[in-house]
Amino acid sequence: MQSSPPKILAAFFILAACAKPHPVEVAKPSILLVTLDTTRADAIRPDTTPNFNALAGRGLLFRQAYTPVPQTLAAHASIMTGLYPAGHGVHENGRYLSDKVPVLAEQMKSAGYRTAAFVSAFAVARRFGLGRGFDVYDDQMPVGAEERSSKETTDRALAYLARPSAQPLFLWVHYYDPHFPYTPPEPYRTRFRNNLYLGEVAAMDEQLGRLVAASRGAIIIAGDHGEGLGEHGEAQHGDLLYQATEHIPLLLIGPGVRVGTSDTAVSTRRIFHTIRDWAGLDAAHTLRRDEREVVVAEAMKPFLDYGWQPQVMALDGRVKTISAGKIEVYDVIADPAETHDLAPRVDISREVRAALHDYPIPTAETPAPSATTDEERRKLASLGYVSATTKPAIRKDAPRPVDMARLFPLLDEAARLFVLERYREVIPLLEKILAADPHNLDSALRLATAQSSLGHDRQALDAFRKAEAIDPDSEDVRTYLALHYARGKDWPKAIPLLERIVSENPDRLPALEALAVVRERQGRVEDALRLRLRIYSVRTPTAAELVQLGRLAMAAGQTATAIDAFEKARSDHDLELGVLYLAAGRLQDARDALDRVPPSNPDYPMALFKRAQVSVLLHEIDSRTRIENARQHADATTRPLIERERLFR
Ligand SMILES: [Zn+2]
Repeated sequence: MQSSPPKILAAFFILAACAKPHPVEVAKPSILLVTLDTTRADAIRPDTTPNFNALAGRGLLFRQAYTPVPQTLAAHASIMTGLYPAGHGVHENGRYLSDKVPVLAEQMKSAGYRTAAFVSAFAVARRFGLGRGFDVYDDQMPVGAEERSSKETTDRALAYLARPSAQPLFLWVHYYDPHFPYTPPEPYRTRFRNNLYLGEVAAMDEQLGRLVAASRGAIIIAGDHGEGLGEHGEAQHGDLLYQATEHIPLLLIGPGVRVGTSDTAVSTRRIFHTIRDWAGLDAAHTLRRDEREVVVAEAMKPFLDYGWQPQVMALDGRVKTISAGKIEVYDVIADPAETHDLAPRVDISREVRAALHDYPIPTAETPAPSATTDEERRKLASLGYVSATTKPAIRKDAPRPVDMARLFPLLDEAARLFVLERYREVIPLLEKILAADPHNLDSALRLATAQSSLGHDRQALDAFRKAEAIDPDSEDVRTYLALHYARGKDWPKAIPLLERIVSENPDRLPALEALAVVRERQGRVEDALRLRLRIYSVRTPTAAELVQLGRLAMAAGQTATAIDAFEKARSDHDLELGVLYLAAGRLQDARDALDRVPPSNPDYPMALFKRAQVSVLLHEIDSRTRIENARQHADATTRPLIERERLFR
C-alpha cells in the first residue's frame, strides 16, 4: 500500500488543478454552504429535520454521500480543497492545513465573490488554516467556551447577510450542535428525551430553516461526518470507517441542478468542485453531473496516535471495501449496519483494489503537527479531541482498530486528563491501556511523563525503559527522557541526550526549550541566548518571555538584541495602553501607543478603530481616511462598533 506515494500525491493534487476562465460571462449566483457537524445520514427524517426535508423537495438529495475522513477539521479541509486527506495533509484535528494547498475561498475571491465564514467550534478555528481567502472568518466563541450554538452562529450570519452588496457572496456556515455531549435546548430536550442526539439535530434544523430563508442563490448542505452511537463499539467518530460515521446527508439546490434523488456514491470533497462550477471557474467533477467514481475515505487517527492498523475504504456503487489489517466487504444498501462481511465470497474489482493499494499511508514524516500551544491543546481536549504528540510507529502485528474498540473511551479519557495535567488520575487509565495494548508507545510515554511530572523518579524511569523497549529508535522516547532528567537533580544527564536531539532536529521545540534552560544553569549565557532566539523564530514568545530574553541578551552583552526584546515586550501592550489613554483623555499618548501596534497583532482591526476615534477627537486632517481604513479592515468585533460610532458620522 505504500508504493510510490509521490506519484499518487501528484494525482491527488491534479484534481485541484487551476481554473480556466469561463468563456461566457454569466451572472454568478451567491452560494451558501452549510456544514452539519456530526450528522448521520439517517438523522435526516421528517420528525427531526422538517426544514432539511422541505429543502430536499427543491433540489438534488444524494442518498449515498460519504465523508473522506470522519473527523471535523480534516473533513472540512477536504471540502475546502477538493482533496483527500492524503492530498491536503490534515488527517486529524489539531493539525494545520498547509498554506501551500490551494483553497476554495481564495479562488472564489479572485472570481469576484465576497467570502464569509461563520463557524461554531474551536476545532475549525482560523488558526488551523481554513480561514485563508475569507474576508470575514467569524470563529469567536463565547467567553470560556470552545463551541457555540447554531442559534448564535445563525444570528451572526444573518446580521452579515442583511448588509447590502452588489457582489455575489460565498458564505460558509458551520453548525456544531449534534456533537457530543448531547444537550439540546427546549423544546427539543423534552421532545427528544429518549434520543438527545436527535434533539440536537432537530435544534440545528430549526436554525437551518432561518438561515436558508434569508439566503438567495445556490445552496449546498452536507454533514462533515456521522456519529457511531455505539455501532461497532464506537460511541463518537474518527476511529472507524463504518456507515455510522461515514454516510452523511448531502443536498444541492441551485442553477442547473435537477430536482430529485441520486443513488450515485459521491464524496463530499466534490463540494469544492461543485462550487467552482457554479462560480464559473471550472466544471470538472461537479456534482451537477452524475459522475460515477470509486469513493475513497481514510481514518488514520488510531494509526497516528496508537500505532494501530491504518484504515482506508473504497466504495464502488453499493459495495464497500475496508482495508484495515484485513479486508472487509459490505453491501451497504442491503446491509447498512455492516454485519455480514462478504469478503470471503466476492471478488474485489480491479478499480477498488487499485484505489486501496494506491492510497498513501502517512509516514512518520508526513503528519506535520501544527505547533499547538498548551492552551490550544486544552481547548481541543475540552471538545474531546486530543492527538498524539509522538510520531507513529509502524508495528508488526499492529491490532485492528475495530478489535480494540473497547479501548476508545479509555484512550479518549486518558488523553483528555493528560492534556489537563491531571496526572494522578490519568496513571491508572494508562496502566489499563498498556495492559491491553502493551506496544502503545504514546500511552507508555504519557505514563512516563505523568510519573515524571509527579516527581516519581523510579516509576518514571521504569516507564521510560518500557517505552524504549517498544521503539528503541524513537526520538520521542529520547526527548521525553531528556525532559525528565532536565526537570530533576540529574539534569546533567539530560545534556548529551538534548544535544543529540537538537543536532538531528533543530526545530524540535520541547528539546530546544529544555536545552536553553540547561545552558543557563551551566552559565553558558550566549548558547542559551542563541537557543532562545531559535525557539522564538518557530513560535511567538509571550511578553514575559521577551523580558527574560532581554535580560539574557544584556547578560551576554548583546545590546541590540536586548533593546529589540524589551521594545517588543512593551509593544505587546500598546493596544491596551492606547485604549486606556483614550479613556483617560490622554489623546496624544493614545495616538502614539496605537501607532505602535503592528499589523501582525491579531486585534489590529481594534487598533485601527481606536486610532480613528482618536484622530477625530484630535481633529487630524486625515481622520476621514482613518475611518475608511478602519472600516475596510473591520472584523466581526469592530464592524458593529464602527457602524454605531457617532464620532464617525
Ligand atoms: Zn465534525
